[in-house]
Parts: sequence; structure tokens; C-alpha cells
Amino acid sequence: MAKVLNFKQELTGCFGKPVSENPTQVMIEAAYRHHDLDWRYLTIEVDAADLSAAVAGAKAMGFVGFNCTIPHKVAVIEHLDGLGESASVMGAVNCAVRRDGKLIGENTDGKGFVESLRTLTDPAGKKVVIFGAGGASRAISVEVALAGATNITIVNRSEGRGTELVKLLQDKVKVEAQFVKWDGDYSIPDGTDVVINATSIGLFPDVDARIAVDVAGLKAGMVAADVIPNPPETNFVRDARAAGCKVIDGLGMLVNQGVIGVEYWSGISPDPAVMRKALEDVFSE
Ligand code: NDP
Repeated sequence: MAKVLNFKQELTGCFGKPVSENPTQVMIEAAYRHHDLDWRYLTIEVDAADLSAAVAGAKAMGFVGFNCTIPHKVAVIEHLDGLGESASVMGAVNCAVRRDGKLIGENTDGKGFVESLRTLTDPAGKKVVIFGAGGASRAISVEVALAGATNITIVNRSEGRGTELVKLLQDKVKVEAQFVKWDGDYSIPDGTDVVINATSIGLFPDVDARIAVDVAGLKAGMVAADVIPNPPETNFVRDARAAGCKVIDGLGMLVNQGVIGVEYWSGISPDPAVMRKALEDVFSE
């Protein structure tokens, strides 16, 4: 009997602008190959003015789902058919998933971070300090709170964004939270369990940049995490390692949010080691 041929791939991708340096395709397609899925993940530049047409196009072409990055994480919401719990609390979507013909917005950034964190410690009952109050901090703080952290301090340069995030955490996630204006080297309070850099400080090409923190407050046994994926070895990661902290780098979060995306789209739990290796290979080129 003749073999049944199928030339139709399932489609996924990332909508953003700028997007050409976004490495997500490398790790997601590595997972598809490893798990014998003849799927594609396309890196697609979409202008803000074209987002509505792009989402309609993805729906028309039967995309299984897509990631959203700058500047679409908030704007995409009005073009979707519904939201998952944490995306709804955060008011931001980084992953759309087709379910029963509907496109549902999820946020996997914070979930990916919590997955990484769980490899070192259970967030439940922990006291957490987070530098930054932008999209990454919002996703991480909400998810860490939903995972049971008992106290969250948001340290941020601009007061408006910091206090707005603290209010969201207090009102919508009912967690004890406070804002500290970031003014000079921050002293990590005694009793802190987890310290997270969720700012863009240290991102390529500003690889020598250093977050303003009194490194004497980094203690052995504390968990220190950085969201910067490129380069993964930031000054903060180096300082934290030198102090004996347990460290999570930005690749951990990137890989784990990708793992959750592939799970949402395909139902398969992909191998994170394969995905991390694919990213390490491109970053070391
Ligand atoms: P935003 O622009 O939304 O927020 C940036 C944050 O960094 C703000 O709090 C800003 O403070 C702070 N900041 C930036 N520069 C400085 C500075 N020089 N001094 C003090 N504070 C500063 O960005 P995102 O939250 O979306 O992204 C932040 C980082 O997270 C990016 O580098 C991104 O690559 C990374 N990221 C990593 C992911 C991963 O999977 N590893 C996933 C998502 C993001 P202010 O409010 O005062 O401006």
C-alpha cells in the first residue's frame, strides 16, 4: 500500500518588533525535532499597527499558538478570545494557545521562572526581593505569590511603576508586598530567601553593567536569580555564586517558559536539556 504523505506542518511562532534577535525559535524547533514533531516555529516581525491582522491571519492559517513579545504583550489581549488566570491578573500575555478553536492568552514567563525556582527551593513561605517593576517583574512576582511566597519587596528606580505593581500584588493576589525606591546600593534585608534581578541591567551589549546592590547582603544558601538570558553569566550571577548563593540564570527561565509553551501547544512535555543546549550553542557562536 502506498505510504500516506503529509506535507502540512503545524504552525507556531513569535510576533514582535524588533524580533530578529529573539532566540526562541532555536530552542523550540530543537524540541520539535527531538520529539519527532514536524512542526514549525516562525520568528515574525509584526508592527503594532498590524497586530489585529496578524492574529486574524494566525487564526485563519490554523496556528496552534504563538508567543508575543515587545510591543504586543498587552495589546494582544483585545484580539484574543479569553485569558488564563495569571495572564488575567498580570494584564499581559506572552503565549496564545488554540483551544477548541479559540485563542486563549496565557503568561508563561512567570510560570517558567517558578519552575526554575522549584529546582532549588519551594517558593511557599518565602521572603522575596525583586529588582525591577516592568513586564518580567510583574510576571515573576504574580507567579511567585500564587506559588505561596509570603512577602515580596519590589525595588525599582521609578516610583510609579513600582507602587503600581505592589498595589496589584496586594489587591489581586493578596500577598504582603512593599515598594522600596532604588536609590544607590540596596541592602538586602535579613531573612530574605530569594533575590531576583528582573531588570534589563546586564543585557547584551551592556554586559559590564552591574545592579546597585550591597553584595555583602548576598548570603550562602540564599537563592539568587537573574532574568538576563544573554549573556547568562551576568555580574549579578557571578557575585551571587562567589557569595555561595544557589543561582538561577536567565536561560533557566527562558527554557522553562518555552517548555510550558510547547506543553500548551502540543501536549508533549519537551526535554529542557535539549532546549537549553540549543540556546547555549547559539550564544557561544
Ligand atoms: P521592561 O522595560 O518592562 O522593564 C525594565 C525594568 O528594568 C524596569 O523596572 C526598569 O526600571 C528597570 N531598569 C532598566 N534599566 C535600569 C537601570 N539602568 N537602572 C535601574 N533600573 C533599570 O522590561 P521587561 O521587564 O519586559 O524585561 C526585563 C528583562 O527581562 C529584559 O532584559 C528581558 O530580556 C528579560 N526577560 C527575560 C525572560 C527570560 O525568559 N529569561 C523573559 C522576559 C524578559 P524603571 O521602571 O525605573 O524604568
